[in-house]
This record gives sequence, C-alpha cells and structure tokens, in this order.
Amino acid sequence: MTKYETVIGLEVHVELATQTKLFCSCSAKFGADANENVCPACMGMPGMLPVANRKAMELGIAAALVTNSEIIPVMSFDKKNYFYPDLPTGYQITQFFAPICRNGYVDISVDGENKRITLKQIHIEEDAGKLVHRHGMSLVDYNRAGVPLVEIVSNPDFRTSGEVVAYLEKIRSLLSFAGVSDCKMQEGSMRCDVNLSVREFGTHTLGTRTEMKNMNSLKAIVRAIEYEQQRHIDALNEGTEILIQETRRWDDIAGKSYSMRNKENATDYRYFPNPDIPPFRISKQWIEEVRNALPEPADKKFQRLTAELNIPESEAKIIVGSKNLSDIFDALQAKGISPKDTVSWIVTDLLSMETAENKSVDDIVIDCGKFADLIMLVTAKKINRSCAKRILKLIYTDGVEPNRYVKDNNLSMVNDTDLIEQIVMQVLSENPDSVKQYQEGNQKVIAFFMGQIMKKTGGKADPNAVKELLCAKLGV
Ligand SMILES: [Zn+2]
Repeated sequence: MTKYETVIGLEVHVELATQTKLFCSCSAKFGADANENVCPACMGMPGMLPVANRKAMELGIAAALVTNSEIIPVMSFDKKNYFYPDLPTGYQITQFFAPICRNGYVDISVDGENKRITLKQIHIEEDAGKLVHRHGMSLVDYNRAGVPLVEIVSNPDFRTSGEVVAYLEKIRSLLSFAGVSDCKMQEGSMRCDVNLSVREFGTHTLGTRTEMKNMNSLKAIVRAIEYEQQRHIDALNEGTEILIQETRRWDDIAGKSYSMRNKENATDYRYFPNPDIPPFRISKQWIEEVRNALPEPADKKFQRLTAELNIPESEAKIIVGSKNLSDIFDALQAKGISPKDTVSWIVTDLLSMETAENKSVDDIVIDCGKFADLIMLVTAKKINRSCAKRILKLIYTDGVEPNRYVKDNNLSMVNDTDLIEQIVMQVLSENPDSVKQYQEGNQKVIAFFMGQIMKKTGGKADPNAVKELLCAKLGV
C-alpha cells in the first residue's frame, strides 16, 4: 500500500446563463465575432459606471440554494487589481470580503461509497477576455470580458481523481437543472482549477500545493491529477520535495504539466471594496422567490420518471444525465406524446443518430414541435418507423416539416392489403429456392422475403401487415 495520500481542492468557474454581462448591457452570448459584444463600460473607459445585473444575482442565489450553502444577508463587490492584456479595466470585479454564500456541501457517490464534499464559499465575479495566440501574434477578444461567473471554492476534501469527476458531474447536473448555467466544458462555460498536494498518510499538515488552472475536460483533469500526484510522490521519495507553491499548465497532448509562475499571495491583488457598486441586501423573501421558482432537479426527475411514469432505470438515467435531453423529454411530453414513446424515440432514434455524428448530447438542437409531429405520424400508422427515422435526420439537418415532407414525397404507408398480398405472392413466386429452404426449416429466409417485399413497396408498407401476410402465405 502506498504511504502517501493526495489532497485536492477545486475552484470551479461556471458562467451564469444571463442574456447580458454582469455590469453592462452587452450580450453575454458565446460564439459571436471577436470584439462584437463590447461597450465603453466593459472596456473600462473613464467615467463609465457599472450597473449590476439582477438576473445574475438571482442565479447566484440559486447556485447557493442547490449547494446547501448559507447565504449572507448583505453581499458586496470588490476590485481585484492586476495587469494583464485580457483585463481591459485593470481590475476584476469579484467578491472578496462578503461573497454571496459560505459553508455549503455537495454529496457525491463513487463506486457505491457516499461522500460529502464541503464548500468554503461561492462568489460572483466577472470573466476576463480571451487571448488567442496565432501566426506569431497575440490577439485579444473582449467578448467574454464582463460575462458573469460564479466561482465555487471547495475545501481540500478530495483524495482521488474519481471523486473529482463525480463532484464535477454533480455540480454540472445541479447547476444546469437549476438553470444557473449550461455548464458546457467544451465551450469554456465550466472550467476548473485543481489544487493538489501530497502528504504521508496519518499526517495532518498539508504538503506544498501546486495549482493547474483552466481545465475544461474531465478526461484531461483525470490525466493531469494522476500525473501531478506522481510528480509529487517522486519528489518526496527522492527527498527533493516540492518546494515552491506554483501555478502549472497542463499540456494534454504531451501528457505533462509545466511550471507557469509562482503563486501570487492574496495580498498581491490589493483587494478593496468597489466604491461604484453599493452592497446588496439579500432578503429572505427574495431567497424564497428564487427557491420557489427552481425547476425540478435531476434526482427528483429520475424518481418521477421511474416511479410514476414506469420508465426503466437505465433509460431514465440517460434522460436525466443531460439537461438538454431532459428538456427535449419535457417538450415532447407537453405535445402529448406518451412517456414510453418519448423515451424510446430519444434513447433509440435521436441518440443513435447523434452517436453516428460523434457529438455531445448537450449539443443536440432539434425542433421538438416537428419531432412530436413525426412521432404522431408513426403512432397514427401514416408512416413506418424506418421511414420516420430517415425523416428525423432531415428535421435535424434541414429542418424539414414532417407532414409536408411525407405528402410531397409520397411516403404514406401502404396499408392496402390486396396490394401487399399481390407483392407477397410475386416475391414468393420469384424465389422458389428460398421458399424451399424455408420449407426445409431455414427461418432466416423470412428476413430475406421481408427485405424483398419492403423494397418493392418503396419501404412504405406497414412491416407488421407484411409479416402477417407473408406468414399466412408460407403457412406458419
Ligand atoms: Zn459592455
């Protein structure tokens, strides 16, 4: 057994799902052209004053509620002073002296073992811009400067990378279902700083810690933790110890971490209260309003799906594993599709289509009105399922309208029994050898006959009717 234990604390940055920035009315939307969403206020022009975004405060309260935190009665904003090209004002507006909440916790489960991760605090702050290094130049995009974030600071409660992953997944579920953030790690709306140190088992003082900043993929976080803890253990074994508290950069391609700079002490930032923003009183009434408006969390939804709607646990888990799929589920339900059909169409058809394109389930954007129309065409036996599957793909890629598409392309299911019977007879008479094989006990030729018949009907026949007629003709 190893004689060391790893101690990890996390700072998770999550962009709040507001329309506009934290202290101005610029759009906070991801994906705009560089420097499209900027104004004199978020560019730090002289004389401009910040105006706080009420929605961001509400989302901060929601983050506090879902993490069981103690919300403080009066919170305030401070200036964190440092110079860097991605920070146009020369300071970041954050909460240092009176953050929105403290002392929360999140319960996780790893390999069947439950563990409580305690939180030091959550504070609201503005994001910085983004530097892009390209063709030997450094470019800066200020669209993200001033976008609201919450930073969730955990205590150093983690001992393994497995616990870290379970916690990040739980935070993502809690915050995305509460509507606080879309928590898309690949778009940078959820990022994580990992603080790690190693000490001998049984000792209580923390070893020298190193920090890896801005990690935005679970896989990379796991690799970085495994690498960094081994680096610390090697140093301890060689007696060289990790002497400097430093910030390191994880290079996922090289599979190594590199030193960036010595960690600044908190005093280096010259924190002081921002005189332009008055303190906020968070009334009990406001907290209750936010609490009452919170949407159903993932675990409650899971219970409802399995206990009330009789959806198998494995499928319910897939639906509540993603806020996006869960929203699609709700939208189809609202259109009157049965729970069983809804789950089947999402899990079997929609997801298999997505897996083929290798996309994240959070990125599926589908018109649920058209999706519901399509399912209703199948339920009403107007088209068959394999035909519907093709149309689903067209709704996704081209936004086709299913009713019109079926009409324009003459795809209505062939239900004419006489016609199907004729085709069945024709296929049997064209394939006497296969009929003989069937009579000798080869069941597999049924699939061959089905394929031939469906082909002759242009894939439009009702497969159940075909099978029934075929079996009758073969004398099953
Ligand atoms: Zn602005």
